[in-house]
Amino acid sequence: MEQTLSIIKPDAVAKNVIGKIVDRFETNGLKIAAMKRVQLSAADAGAFYAVHAQRPFFGELVEFMTSGPVVVMVLEGENALSKNRELMGATNPKEAEAGTIRADFAESIDANAVHGSDSLENAKIEINFFFCGREIA
Ligand code: ADP
Ligand code: MG
Repeated sequence: MEQTLSIIKPDAVAKNVIGKIVDRFETNGLKIAAMKRVQLSAADAGAFYAVHAQRPFFGELVEFMTSGPVVVMVLEGENALSKNRELMGATNPKEAEAGTIRADFAESIDANAVHGSDSLENAKIEINFFFCGREIA
């Protein structure tokens, strides 16, 4: 069984579509193995997105990710990582396939509703960033 980290970003939390997004995961066979709502500090967001520290949009990304609460989840299931990426759609919602979370709930390339781990190695790091062992069940 594979695990991956998902984040419902501040734009989608503000739109009150947490349940609608979680439903996409459950309907498509992914189990919510852990879930919590948190307010990230700038230090939290900067550490989480450290791989993007050199990108021109890093400052905006940290500002956006701290602009309101997020919901972090561990998704579990067969091919959970690629299944989640498929359900999310492309980074830019304007390029995201119809029926994907980003096509349906996101407005722009920065405020794009959800995060998903991009490799199993990063999934492990990201899951450990937010959750301790007993929180994943
Ligand atoms: P993804 O979230 O699809 O894995 P990336 O890892 O490339 O995409 O980027 C991380 C996040 O940084 C994106 O989800 C988005 O919020 C933000 N981002 C990416 N590219 C841009 C950009 N050109 N301008 C502003 N924000 C961006
Ligand atoms: Mg990424």
